[in-house]
Amino acid sequence: MQTVSIDKQIKPVLSGLPFDVLGETLKPLPPFRAEQVFQWIARGVSSFQEMTNLAIPLREDLEQRFSLYSSVISGRVEDPDGTIKLYIRLHDGARVEAVLLMDAEHRKTACLSTQAGCPMGCVFCKTGTQGLTRNLDSAEILEQFLHLRSIKQEHEPEIANIVFMGMGEPLLNLPELYKALAVLTDTRGLGISKRRITLSTSGIIAGIRDLAATGAEVRLALSLTTGDSKLRARLMPVTLSNPLPDLKKALYDYQLQQGRRITLEAVLLGGINTRQEDSDSLTAFAAGLDVVVNLIPWNPVQGMVFEGRPLREPSGREMRAYIQRLEQRGLKVTRRLRKGLSIAGACGQLGS
Ligand code: SAH
Ligand code: SF4
Repeated sequence: MQTVSIDKQIKPVLSGLPFDVLGETLKPLPPFRAEQVFQWIARGVSSFQEMTNLAIPLREDLEQRFSLYSSVISGRVEDPDGTIKLYIRLHDGARVEAVLLMDAEHRKTACLSTQAGCPMGCVFCKTGTQGLTRNLDSAEILEQFLHLRSIKQEHEPEIANIVFMGMGEPLLNLPELYKALAVLTDTRGLGISKRRITLSTSGIIAGIRDLAATGAEVRLALSLTTGDSKLRARLMPVTLSNPLPDLKKALYDYQLQQGRRITLEAVLLGGINTRQEDSDSLTAFAAGLDVVVNLIPWNPVQGMVFEGRPLREPSGREMRAYIQRLEQRGLKVTRRLRKGLSIAGACGQLGS
């Protein structure tokens, strides 16, 4: 589907429409036709012409009236560790990045973006320095998955997991994200299990409450970074309008309702949030919640400074001491493997 032309401005795009909406859009075509089109999109066909169970005049009629997709792959870079980053160009020229990661067992994870840029301004994140260009619509979110899947070699396994850890704050784009999730998880099409989908948020309380209320049932990760409110507000301005005690209450309620373990992510910045106070404050935040802590050594982004000091990676000693203190307090800790560093495809490096 990389070669399709993009003319969204004139024709409505079908790829990101949930099943029912697609049915409405294609009326007066009967529902079984809509289901066929839905399935073809899930397979990632390049054009209406490939929809061989539709009569040729119908394919031509659809082609006149609709676009299948709204984005194209505009570039691709590959890290020796197997990570592949795609540059994707949207109909208005905006760009997003999507990343395919491979773990030691050769399981593949698609890391998707929800916004072009990001408004949250976390000081350690490259995307955060760009500001927000705009929200992505459901087609633009869904198509990142289709694009990543299209580069798969024949013998390779299917993508096993989806994480919304690319560019942007997913919970600030919930209406479009919900539509994309509806398409991704629909068993009549892609049928990806909700348990294999993780949303990562910088901590938008209203969004977490919305997820709980709508029963989205996906996995949730919070980028906590530190449990020290003052330090967190300096690193992640979102803290000012979403205070940590209220955020914890929202997670607690979410967990009561969804019963799922939550991931607390902490990007570790050498000499800044690796002190004993920081692991203590993180432990205090975690108390009463069912969590696993995922530590991410800061991925270098050139020229990034925090209050006048250049940011640096945590040393091996800082990492080990931090992990040890959390484990001594009984927390389950995982360490994120560093992937895609050489292509700036790792967490927080997107936006070149
Ligand atoms: N905006 C969402 C999801 C995208 S960021 C969020 O912030 O949760 C995904 C993860 O990358 C977050 O946990 C964030 O803290 C982390 N991150 C950002 N910049 C980073 C960097 N330079 N090195 C390592 N991790 C980083
Ligand atoms: Fe946005 Fe997440 Fe980066 Fe913060 S870490 S600026 S929320 S993408």
